[in-house]
Amino acid sequence: MKTKKAMQGYKCYSCKTKIKKGEQYARKSVVLGKTTIWAHETPTPDWAWETYRSAMPHCNNCANPTL
Ligand SMILES: [Zn+2]
Repeated sequence: MKTKKAMQGYKCYSCKTKIKKGEQYARKSVVLGKTTIWAHETPTPDWAWETYRSAMPHCNNCANPTL
């Protein structure tokens, strides 16, 4: 996947490697967990859950694994 220059230091979400400022890295959308819009009493019905995603930094190795 396409990488870009890190404007600050990051930590790879996948392998926890430090990504230094100026290195190539990528932002990859990952599922972070579940969230619900259910505001009533528990239990929350299955349909009210949705996964939430966020773009987390990935190092060049994880963004473009060499096979
Ligand atoms: Zn990595």
